[in-house]
Amino acid sequence: MTPYAPVPFRLTVLMYHYLRDLGDDCEAGSGIGGWPPSAFEAHLERACRAYHPVSWADVQAHLAGQAALPPRALLITFDDGLLDHYLNAFPRLQAAGLSGLFFALARRPGDGLTHPHRLHFLLARLGLDGLRAALLARLAPHDAARLLAAEAHYRPLWSDPVDGFKTAVQRELAAAVSQPLAGLLAEYVGDERSLADRYYLNAEQVAAMRAGGMHFGGHSQTHPWLDFVSAAQAAAEAAASAAWLRPVERGPFAFAYPYGGCDERTAAHLAAAGFGAAFTTNAGAQHASPYHIGRYDGEALPAGFFEVPHG
Ligand SMILES: [Zn+2]
Repeated sequence: MTPYAPVPFRLTVLMYHYLRDLGDDCEAGSGIGGWPPSAFEAHLERACRAYHPVSWADVQAHLAGQAALPPRALLITFDDGLLDHYLNAFPRLQAAGLSGLFFALARRPGDGLTHPHRLHFLLARLGLDGLRAALLARLAPHDAARLLAAEAHYRPLWSDPVDGFKTAVQRELAAAVSQPLAGLLAEYVGDERSLADRYYLNAEQVAAMRAGGMHFGGHSQTHPWLDFVSAAQAAAEAAASAAWLRPVERGPFAFAYPYGGCDERTAAHLAAAGFGAAFTTNAGAQHASPYHIGRYDGEALPAGFFEVPHG
């Protein structure tokens, strides 16, 4: 079910994750840093001068062939459905008269944290070497060997060894690390369910943001590499996200690929579940397909980004 035509189109999209200052209600002593809200506010001011900010509803109408996007159209997006987005992004967007598109995980109260966020808490508490040693000690010998082999494979692909470790854990050992990571969180950080229930947006916050002109898209249920899981899991993740969105948004829905991991099979699963557009993590403002819409990382924009056109 997708009425959207895959015509090439132009749209600049920004992507943000954590928006917080150390010590604020989002960081809450976790040690997990983020992009400072004051810097985000400066981006909004400059974006309003250099671009024509649009909402997800505007992009939906464009993709459906109902209305053209203005020149230098800009969409602001946020991944992971974090408390940061309610406390630090929403009020600033509202004050600027802007609408953001928030890709939230299909979580329910009591579900706990997804792997990337478990790793963020544990890395902030133990550091890379401490976490690696603690995890290896809790894994079965053959899984420990798999982790070391996967890390040796991924480490050269990243400039930061933390990224090589995270990719190895999240891509190759997602099932095997589940219990060990839960145990490490309980031992070193705290009760995972209460952490998660505060860390992710709750239903009341989502409703308030929708009432305030914000929009929501899907980001899966467990934050897997969708190009790396079974077809059955990819389909189930898309279906869970669509079910989460149905009471919140009018379809066809928007989706952001976790870690940017996507392939043709994933796009087909999304289309079948009711998604009409999907966003990647690849920079670029010219998009050949609505299922591969590139985005610029708001935390790593090149100098002069708000002064020059992109393509
Ligand atoms: Zn994510």
